[in-house]
Order: sequence, then structure tokens, then C-alpha cells
Amino acid sequence: MSDDFLDFGEIEVKPKYRERYKGVSGEKHRISIVYPKPDENGKQGGPFVMRSTHYSDKYFFCKEGICCEKLGPAKNRLACIVVQYKTKKDGSLIKKEGEAIPFDYEVKEWVFTDTKFNQLKALHNEWNLKDHDILVTLKGTEQYQDLEFVPCRESIWQLKPEFKEAIYKESEPMRKNLTNALGQDLSTDEIKELLGLDVAQAGEVIAGEEDLNDILAEV
Ligand SMILES: [Zn+2]
Repeated sequence: MSDDFLDFGEIEVKPKYRERYKGVSGEKHRISIVYPKPDENGKQGGPFVMRSTHYSDKYFFCKEGICCEKLGPAKNRLACIVVQYKTKKDGSLIKKEGEAIPFDYEVKEWVFTDTKFNQLKALHNEWNLKDHDILVTLKGTEQYQDLEFVPCRESIWQLKPEFKEAIYKESEPMRKNLTNALGQDLSTDEIKELLGLDVAQAGEVIAGEEDLNDILAEV
């Protein structure tokens, strides 16, 4: 066989960043937090992933070392998957008459920090957000994503098994890469490089007493 020369039709380039959920000025959204699909035994995990992160040109995971020394304490970022129903500006659903899934929707990643998590947690304690959609309005500018949440009576995507299956079909593959939405997992050297610090040449530096002991033990 010849080398891997591919034609247009054989290559599918996926966009690097999926569209994430965001509150939009002047719009009322209806969303729902999607928990993982239960396994054969009915066991179901929680919906969130969380990482301790820093920001310097991009988000990356804290390694509790030079990153904190140079950038200050790390901040938690969380992500989950949501269904965003297509709605009119007042938050009411756009119905698709006569179709198997009678509403239009998108499955998206949603990334936020501690503050919003605590806001959701307070709501969850009263309303169990596993079983209730949420109406979202944006206060202020889109940049700050200061959101107001109001629980709905039901969760539309969970009303029928066929709706659930349609959502799981999209959400489950996305779940495997969800931590990527929180930042990059850089090595210590990569962090140093990002922060413009000298990266030790291999073999040049003995990092600590442990390394020294290792070497002496080999003599
Ligand atoms: Zn750190």
C-alpha cells in the first residue's frame, strides 16, 4: 500500500474548541445539567469534573510548585455537560411538531468557577437539579457571566426514554474529554517555559537530596 495520502473526503478536521454554553445578554435560556448515563446496575456518577488551575495566556493545571510561586494560589474550575434547548427569547421552547424528538437542542460543555458552583449547589439543595431544567438569565455583561438561575418544574429531556437516549448519544462521548475544557495538563518544564523561566538542561541539575541519595546508592 502507498503512503497515507488522503483525499478531501477522507479527512475530517474537528474544530479545536467546541462551542461552550454561555449566558447571552437579553436572552432567557433553558438548560439542564446532564448526569452520566447510569451503568447496567443503575449506578450513576456525578456530573462535574474539577481541576485546580492557573491562567497565563491559557489555563493549565496546578502542579503545586513553581506555578503557585509565580502566579499565586490556584483557582478551581469546574465543567459539566448541559443540554441547551432552542428557545424563543422569553425562554419558551421552540416545538418541532410531529418529530420523534419534538424539541431542538444542543449539547454543550459548561465551564465555571467556585462562585457559580456554590450558586448551583444552593439551588440543587432545594430543587435537585438532576430532575429539573434551569432557566438562565444574564445580569450585566457577557464577559462576567453573572447568571441568575430559576428551576423549572420538570426536565424535558428526561421525560421519555427516547429523548434520554438521543441526549446520551451526544453527551457520553463528550464526557471523556471534559477535563480538557478546564485547561492543559502541562509538565513542570512546560510550565516554566510558559512563564519564561529557565528550564534546567537534562542531566545538569540534581534537584534534591533524594536524587543525590539515589546516585550515591548506585556508586
Ligand atoms: Zn500551582
